[in-house]
Order: sequence, then C-alpha cells, then structure tokens
Amino acid sequence: MSLLSSGLARSHGALLSRLLWPTALLFVVTILTVVMTFLWTSRHANEVAAATQRARLASALNQRLESLRDDLASFIAEGIAGSRAHPHEAGSMSSRGPSLRRLDGALVLSAAGSREILRDESGSSERVRALFADVRALRRSEADDAGDRDVPVTAEVVRQSMAPQILSDGTRLYAVVSARGRDVGSTFVPFLAGRELLIAWKRLDGPILARIAEIHGLAALTLAPVSKDATSTGLSLENGRGETVAEITWLPDRPGDLMQQRILPIVGVGLGFSALMFGAVALHFHRTTKNLAETDAIAKDLLGRDPLSGLANRMLFNERLDRELANVRDGAPGLAVVFIDLDRFKDVNDSYGHQAGDDLIQLVARRILDILPDRDTLARLGGDEFAIIQTQLASFEQAEALCRRILDLLTRPFAVAHTQVTIGASIGVALAPEHARSRESLMKLADTALYQAKSEGRNRVSFFQTHMDETLRMRKVVEDDLRKAITGDQLILHYQPLFSSDGEKIVGLEALVRWPHPERGLISPSEFIAIAEERGLVIPLGEWVLRRACEDGKRWPNLRVAVNVSAIQFRHRGFVESVTRALEETGFDASRLELELTEGVVVGDEDAAEAAMIELRALGVHLALDDFGTGYSSLIYLRRFAFDKIKIDRSFLESMEATGESAILVHSIVHLGRALGLVVTAEGVETKEQHRFLQALGCHQLQGYLFSRPVPREEIDRMVAAQVSAPASAA
Ligand code: C2E
Ligand code: MG
Ligand code: MG
Repeated sequence: MSLLSSGLARSHGALLSRLLWPTALLFVVTILTVVMTFLWTSRHANEVAAATQRARLASALNQRLESLRDDLASFIAEGIAGSRAHPHEAGSMSSRGPSLRRLDGALVLSAAGSREILRDESGSSERVRALFADVRALRRSEADDAGDRDVPVTAEVVRQSMAPQILSDGTRLYAVVSARGRDVGSTFVPFLAGRELLIAWKRLDGPILARIAEIHGLAALTLAPVSKDATSTGLSLENGRGETVAEITWLPDRPGDLMQQRILPIVGVGLGFSALMFGAVALHFHRTTKNLAETDAIAKDLLGRDPLSGLANRMLFNERLDRELANVRDGAPGLAVVFIDLDRFKDVNDSYGHQAGDDLIQLVARRILDILPDRDTLARLGGDEFAIIQTQLASFEQAEALCRRILDLLTRPFAVAHTQVTIGASIGVALAPEHARSRESLMKLADTALYQAKSEGRNRVSFFQTHMDETLRMRKVVEDDLRKAITGDQLILHYQPLFSSDGEKIVGLEALVRWPHPERGLISPSEFIAIAEERGLVIPLGEWVLRRACEDGKRWPNLRVAVNVSAIQFRHRGFVESVTRALEETGFDASRLELELTEGVVVGDEDAAEAAMIELRALGVHLALDDFGTGYSSLIYLRRFAFDKIKIDRSFLESMEATGESAILVHSIVHLGRALGLVVTAEGVETKEQHRFLQALGCHQLQGYLFSRPVPREEIDRMVAAQVSAPASAA
C-alpha cells in the first residue's frame, strides 16, 4: 500500500463523511419544501376555487335580482299604460295576475302597514311584510317628500329607482324589489299612492337555489350563519343598506383537497421511495466510509511496519517517541531510547546468505519482544539496527537491567541455516528527561552512546555521557578530513617493537598508523579506522600504510615489519595485487612483510580468503592472526588457514590478574599455538609479572608498553642501532 493510496483513502473517507450530513440535510429540506409547496398549492387552489364559485354565485343571484327588477318594472309599466288607456279600471291590479307571473308575491305597503296583497303564491307575504315592518327608508322618504310630482314616468325611470335587495328571515331567502309611489307617480298607477311602497319578491330557497347550484356546478346551497373564514365556501348576502343578512353556503368543492386526496398517496409513495433510496445511499456511504477508514488504518499500519520483522519502522518509532515524549515530565517516570546494533550480522549474511540474515533478524526481534512489556516499542530502524522506547522508567537501573538482559539474549547462539551462529550486540542508551527531551536529540545521543559501545569493543551497553559528544564531533572531523589526509600524505606510521620472550631483543616491528590532525593533535587509529571502513576509505588508507611500511622497513634489514589489514581491505578483490605492487615498487623483501589479519577476515567467504592467503604465502609474505581470543577463536581457522603466528589479545592480559580463568586461557592458547607450530606473541604486556608469566609459559614474542610504546621510525632507528651496538660492546 503506497503512501499515495493511503492518503487518497483517507481523503475520500473524510470527504464522504463530510458530505453525508449536508446531503441528509439537503434531502430533508427538499422533502419539506416539496410537501409545503404541495400543501400551499392545494390550499391556494381551494381559495381560488371558493372565490370563483362565490363570484359565479353572486353573479347568478344578481341576475335573479335583475330579472326580478325587469319583471316588476314591466308590470308597473303595464299598469301605467293600462291606467292611461282605461282610467276606470285603475285601482285593481289583481286582475293583472299574469304580469306578476314570475314573482312569488307582491304587495303594496303603506306607512301604516300592509294595504293590498297583489299576489302571494308562496305564502310569504307575512314574512316579507314583517321584514319590511321597520321601513325606516320609507318613513324617511315620506318626510323628504314635498308632494306628488306629476312627471312623465317610463318603465325605464321606474326601473332605475327600484332597489333590489336580498332579505332573509333566518330560514328563507328572498329576492326583493321595491318601488316607491312617488317614483312611479300615483297619478298614473291607480293602486299605488305617493307614499306607498310596492314590494315584489321571489323566494330564493328550495328549487331555485338548487337550480342555481345545478347550473353553476355547486353541491346543494344552504343558508348558514355568517362565517369569517376566507376560505369558506360561503357567499355573504347584503341587503340594500350594506348589512349582511345571510350567507349562502354550499358543500365545498375544493380542488386542493382533491389534489391532496389524489396526489398525496403518490407523493407519499414517492417520498417513501426517495427516503428508501436515500437510506440506501447513506448506508452505502457509511459502508464505503467505514471500508475506507479500515483500508486507511491497514495502510497506515503497513506504512509503519518493517515488512521483514513486522516491527515498527523508523516512521512509526518516531511517531511513538514523539507521543511518549509529550508525556514526559520532571519528577515523573521518564523513558529510555535504546539503540541496538548487531555485531557480526554482516558476517552471517555473507557466510550463510541473505535468507539466513533475514531469519536472524526475525529471531532477534522475537527474542527481544518476548521480554519487552507491551507498552514499550521495539522498532527496526534498518539493516541490523533496532531501537526500543522503554517507557515508565522509574530509575536508571531499570534501563540497565533491560539492556543487560537483551545483551545476554543476543549473545546466545541462534539457529539459522541449519547451524548455530553466535552474534553479539552493541547497545547505546539515552534517557529522557535527563539527557534530552526532544526526539532528535535523544536519538542523536543514543546513537552516540551506541557508537561508543561499538568503539569500546562491541558486545556492551553504553549509556550516554557528555564526553561522548566529543566522540561524535570526532566522527564528524574524521568523516570530513580523512580523505584529504590520505591523499595529502598527512598520515604517519609509528612502530611498536616486538621483543623476544626475555624482553631483551627486538624481533619485529608492528606498524601502527597515526593521524596528526592540525587542530585535534595525534588521532589514534581506534578513533578513525572504523569510520574509514564505513566510509570506504580503508582501501586507500590500507594501501598507503602498506607502501609506507615497506618503504620504512628497508631501514631495518633484519626485522620483519607487521602491517594491520582490516577485514574489508582483505576481502577487497585487488588486495593481493596491491600487496604485490607495494612490494615491487618499494623493493621490500616479501619475507620481511607480515600481515596481521583478524578472524573477521576469514568469516564469510572462507574459500576466497583461503585462496588469497595461499597467494600471499606464495609471495613469501607471513600471516599473523591478530587479537586472538576475541572473535570466533575457532581452532578450525588455525588448522585450515596457514597462519605463521597468533597474537593473543591484550584483553586477556588485562584481566589476567583479576581472574584465574584468563590465566588458564592464556596458558592454553600458548600451548595450542606452540603445538600447532605457530609463533605465539602476547600483546599488551605492561607489567613485569605479566612478562614473567608469559615467558614461563613459553611465549615466543612479547609486545607492550613494558618494553616500548609505538614510536616514530627515527626512534626505532635509535633502538635498533643501540641493540646492534649492545652485543658488540658486551662482547
Ligand atoms: P592492534 O593491531 O592490536 O595493535 C595494538 C594496539 O595495542 C595498538 O594500539 C597499540 O598501541 C596498543 N598497545 C600495544 N601495547 C600496549 C600495552 O601494553 N597496553 C595497551 N593498553 N595498549 C597497547 P593502536 O595503535 O591504537 O591501534 C589500535 C588498533 O588499530 C590496532 O590494534 C589495529 O587493529 C588498528 N590499526 C592500527 N594501525 C592500523 C593500520 O594501519 N591499518 C589497520 N587496518 N588497522 C590498524
Ligand atoms: Mg595488530
Ligand atoms: Mg592486536
């Protein structure tokens, strides 16, 4: 899983979860809008329908009133005409029934009450009279009356003065037209005096209303109390004086309701379906987001893992360390950053193949994990480098104990490639908050401590100490300046003599390189050889030393000069050739050259090492096994590879007095070497006791500060000269 796809997964997930709620909100708002619009439209449709019906009904009633007025007007006009033609017949209109045929009734009302009923088919005359009982309008007009006027009256004039009205007695409705005597002119209408009122009416209830309703497509019209509702299907009826007297209502024909009845189920189903769809989409969204989140988590986990060991990688280690450091406070438990570097891992890799190397890494990871609490982190930072974050650290001893256990575990043999291999580890530790609080600093300090552990001889634990910073600075100096020093011929060689076992006679010299640094003074090889190896500078360095030693060696014709060869230099393909060239170019006798190899030289490609050694021996060069006892110390090497000499490591002499064990070991090694016909040399002889012990054991050669420190070649010149002259003077 790449960083990119993980990032995409994460951004998709975030996008989806961010989109979900706004979409849901939008969906709900849309649905609400649709429902509201629908309700509003249907309500509005009801109002429009009610208004239309009301208008239609009003116009239908107006038509009734108009036709009523027309009828009465033509009746009066007939009366006028009749009274002109037959004045003797005036005074009785009852004979003119047919002229009132479209009216339900008519009567003449005087100020004192009813005078004459002209027609009453509906039996309403009493009601109408009662309705007109309070004829204030009539009385007022009487008061206004100045007297009869004799004006020419036409039916049209009469019609104009007639005021149509709707009257209701609460149960029935009447369309009423009335005409005042003075408007008609009593002179011409014999049955109507000047102050009298002619009233004609038509009942609007019953069949008429039903007919109107039928014509206008309304369900049965009824009289109802006046309602205030704007949407009510009611028509307010006013009398001529602007007073509402009744309301006609009809059964509501509401298209909005119809719409709701018909469309609501469809809308409901639609909305239900949409909600289902939305639910499905939301579910899909949710699942996708969840999947993406899971993918993201897996990707993140994979990103933070070292594929070979399954441990955290550098990225995750950094992340965790940052997190842990955020919790570190003064006075509270701190943490330790532990750097572990496997010793001789490369040898295993080279000797047994990469699979063995991979297996070894996994085994190492498992061993450490087995003893590490869950809260702590073990990471593989690369190659054979591991790191631990030890949390909840109450004391320095706690970190030390863990490191000792790890060291102990890692020095036990591992079963890889059908064999047992033994490696070791160098461990560097830095503590928070004591040494530093930031990740960068802590890691730098742990690395410094690790470097210290390695340079002190590996297989050890080293806690950061301030002086180590100096080491770190030195490392930087070496990295920056060593190449220049080699090419610029700035290195020098010191020589340390090897003495015969009685300590009297110089029997050989070991060339030891020194670097006189312009600012840092004389730098010893232990400080820069390892870095030269790491930086690929050990080949030019080694060639320089070899050439210079051969050159100098010619000054001491009777002594063999030993040159140290690093494992990397020895394994380099052109090594034998470079030795041959150095010998040829300097003219140094090959048999006076001794190469000091360590056991690391032969580990790995043993066949190639053997071949190179055979070639070197064919040249006449001597081979010594240096630092014997510190490495694999395998007898096989001694038997298989044709060494001339073994040099017992000075660490045996250092601890010899302290433990009897070392003395026994030295004893065995000397006897073993002698038995194999090798020259046995002891390094690091510093005391007379050591000298006596080694001499007694039968060690052939001795080297150490007791006899001489490594010195410049001029000093050797003097020592050699003194030695040459000494026997002569003794003689
Ligand atoms: P080595 O080959 O085992 O060399 C002996 C080291 O022991 C030298 O350290 C020497 O100064 C030191 N020594 C000798 N006698 C005594 C003693 O009595 N007491 C103590 N404490 N030390 C003693 P030096 O010169 O610092 O060299 C350290 C190592 O650096 C050498 O160990 C050798 O492995 C490496 N080295 C030195 N020169 C070269 C070189 O030209 N090429 C390579 N590849 N390695 C070199
Ligand atoms: Mg040596
Ligand atoms: Mg040595």
